[in-house]
Amino acid sequence: MICPKCAAEMELVTFEGITVDRCTGCKGLWFDANEQKELKRKKGSEVIDSGDAATGRRMDKITRINCPRCQKPMIRMVDVDQHHIDYEACTTCYGIFLDAGEFRDLKNDTMSEYLRKTFGGPASGTPKS
Ligand SMILES: [Zn+2]
Ligand SMILES: [Zn+2]
Repeated sequence: MICPKCAAEMELVTFEGITVDRCTGCKGLWFDANEQKELKRKKGSEVIDSGDAATGRRMDKITRINCPRCQKPMIRMVDVDQHHIDYEACTTCYGIFLDAGEFRDLKNDTMSEYLRKTFGGPASGTPKS
C-alpha cells in the first residue's frame, strides 16, 4: 500500500494479532475499520507509533488525501475525547489515517482515563469491555 500523505511504501506492523500499515516515510499509521479502537485497548500498543511527532505535525497539514484502499476522498475527523487530535477517515471502508505521534497521544488519554476509573472512580465490578 502507498501512503496517502507522502506516497512512500507502507509496511505491515503487527501487535498482538492486529496488523496495521505504517508508512516507511512519514511513519503515519493506517488502521482498517475498528483496528484503532481494538489496538488502543491493548497495553503497550503505542510502540507501533514509532515516528517522530514533529514529522507528524508537519504531515498533519496535509488534509486532502484519498483513501489508500478505495481511492475515495477522505474526511477530516476530530477525536471525540481529545479535540486537539484530528485525523482523516474514509466514509466508505471506515479506515483512518493517523499521523506519527497521534496514536501515542490517543493512548495517553486512554491510560489516564483508565487510571482514573480504576483508582479514582467509584468501586465497581469487572470493567466493561
Ligand atoms: Zn507517509
Ligand atoms: Zn476507504
